[in-house]
Parts: sequence; structure tokens; C-alpha cells
Amino acid sequence: MENKKIILTGDRPTGRLHLGHYVGSLKGRVELQNSGEYDNIFIEIADAQALTDNFNNVEKVKNNIVEVALDYLACGIDPNKSTIFIQSQIPELCELTFYYLNLVTLSRLQRNPTIKDELKLRGFENSIPVGFLTYPISQAADITLFDAEVIPVGDDQLPMIEQTREIVRSFNNLYKPILKEPKELLPDNDKCMRLPGLDGKNKMSKSLGNCIYLSDEPEVIEKKIMSMYTDPNHLKVEDPGNVKDNAVFIYLDAFCKDEHFEKYLPEYKNLDELKAHYERGGLGDVKIKRFLNSIIQEELKPIRERRKELESNIDKVYEILKNGSNKAKEYASNKIIEVRNAIGIDYFK
Ligand code: ATP
Ligand code: MG
Repeated sequence: MENKKIILTGDRPTGRLHLGHYVGSLKGRVELQNSGEYDNIFIEIADAQALTDNFNNVEKVKNNIVEVALDYLACGIDPNKSTIFIQSQIPELCELTFYYLNLVTLSRLQRNPTIKDELKLRGFENSIPVGFLTYPISQAADITLFDAEVIPVGDDQLPMIEQTREIVRSFNNLYKPILKEPKELLPDNDKCMRLPGLDGKNKMSKSLGNCIYLSDEPEVIEKKIMSMYTDPNHLKVEDPGNVKDNAVFIYLDAFCKDEHFEKYLPEYKNLDELKAHYERGGLGDVKIKRFLNSIIQEELKPIRERRKELESNIDKVYEILKNGSNKAKEYASNKIIEVRNAIGIDYFK
């Protein structure tokens, strides 16, 4: 019998999903889901993880659960093929995290480069909530409780997957080898691994407010794109421009196909020609922004329209989340028995 693999991915319900999620993970998930090559795809809405830095804003996390679910469904996640569930509804995750806490040192947690950045960003450096610092451990529980081996993510998540592999190896050596080592699945296009925000500096991130959301209205998208940072030294149209650290060109690298030129900018054949002209000088920012706007509008229109339809039946979305959570819970409750047995704490068999 062919041995199909399990996928686990997820998002924090801290806001609606944005273009970074779309190219970094969501688009790929839909392709994986439809490939038929995987046994199950678990998609976790990580509310408990979101509470680690939003413990004083529970309402925000709660309200965004359904927003994230709407974005999933609008992008083509099919609840008949994928299991969408809510993290807090699976208490087995807490139990597993509790056992894993013993396998990781404090200094190891503090070395995690993504955590270092996030602590700085949140101003937590001088008073670190333990829950926040240990979220990579709970993320290891998310992955391993579902036997997931394939984890589609952006590159900010690589340290988390590495941490998970370390925990798996420790556990399997100490107890019984019942855990699977996961592997990240990064987008093919390296510009999609960490899409920058509209500011052109940081990664596009819900917490930074530098996003184009999948649900943004056409006028909002246009306004955001037209105000994007480009090359600060490209002052006059004639000036030679830099395409490398230029967010507009990075987005074009992520989204543009040759067909788009035929349709919206027929005087160029492809992106290389456009880049060459910009570098030579004589190509204005407004023109490239208008081109990018046409491409993004085309990509997001069907998603926004599907989302609007789904918004008219929120009860159905909650039903999907409830069914998915029940299904995930069933898997988790079997696996946790295996875990207790491996550790040797199944006293009343
Ligand atoms: P927050 O600011 O609350 O952390 P976020 O925007 O970073 O939100 P997450 O929910 O943390 O979003 O990330 C979910 C998934 O999306 C992860 O796999 C992450 O790697 C991916 N992702 C997030 N932002 C980007 C981005 N700008 N480019 C590519 N992938 C991204
Ligand atoms: Mg994040």
C-alpha cells in the first residue's frame, strides 16, 4: 500500500490573511490539497498561540478565527479534503506540550532567531512572558500530535521546524520512536518565502500593519500599491533605478507571469525586459505600480467575491470549524495514548 503523508499548517488568528500568507503558504496548500498525494491536511487556526502575545486582547483573537477561516475557504481550501480546526479545542496539545517542555533548555529557546525578532518587535525583551517564549515548543506539539511530516511555511518558520526536529529526536531516543520528523516545504519562488510589506523593509505581517489583505476592496488595494516604497534614489523618470531592494519589483517577481505583459503592458515581453528598462532609466514608478495593481487586482478579485458569498452564511463556517475540530480531536486522542504509553505513564491499562 502506498504510504501517504500528513500535512500540518496553520495561522494565528491575529488578523485577516494577507498576500504574504497567500504566496508563502496558502496558495501552495490548496495545490497540495488538490494533488491527492496526501493522506490528510490539518490546518490549524492557532488561537492559543495567538494568545501568547494577545492575552490581554482575547476579543481580537476570537473575532479573527472566523476571518481566517473565511480567507481559507475563499482561497480554495475544501473542508471535504482538508481538516480545519481550532487549536484550543484540542486539549491533548497542552498535555503533549507539557511533556516536551522537559526536553528543551531555556537558552535554546532564547537562541531562536524568529523569537528574538518577535520579542524585540513586541517590546517583550525586558519582561518575557513564559507562554510566548515557549510557543515554539507548543508548535512542536501541533506538528507531531498529528504525525505531520510536511509543513508548508514561509522562511520565518524554519527555526520552529528545526526546534520540532530536535524535540522529536530527544523524545524518540529517550522513550520510544513514535514521533515523525517533519520537514518544511518552502515556496519554489524565493521571493515568496518572506514577502516584504508595503514599507519594503520588514516582512508583510499582520502585527506590522504593512499588508495588502486578501479581502481588501479594489480601491484600497490600488491606494496601497500606489503609495508603495520603491527605490529612494529613483527621483526622476530618467534616473537609473534599482530593482533589487525595490518592493514593487519583488511583488512582480512573486506574482507576474508573461501573460500579464500581453494583457496589461504589451510594449514589454517579460519581467527581465521591464527590469532592464528600469535599471537603464526612463521608466517611471507610476507605470510599474499601475502594472502591479492590474496583476494583484486580477488575482484577488475571485477570492474577494467568494469570500463575500461565504460571509452571508457565517453559521456554515462555524459548522465547518466544529466538524474539523472534532475530527482533529479524534486523531489527537489516539495519538496521546500512544505518547503516554511511549513515556511509560499509562498506569491503568
Ligand atoms: P503575526 O504578525 O500575528 O505573527 P503573520 O502575518 O506573521 O502574523 P502568521 O500567522 O504568524 O502570520 O503566519 C502564518 C504562516 O504564513 C506561516 O507559515 C508564515 O511563514 C507565513 N507567512 C507569514 N507572513 C509571510 C510573508 N510575509 N511571506 C511569506 N510567508 C509568510
Ligand atoms: Mg508570525
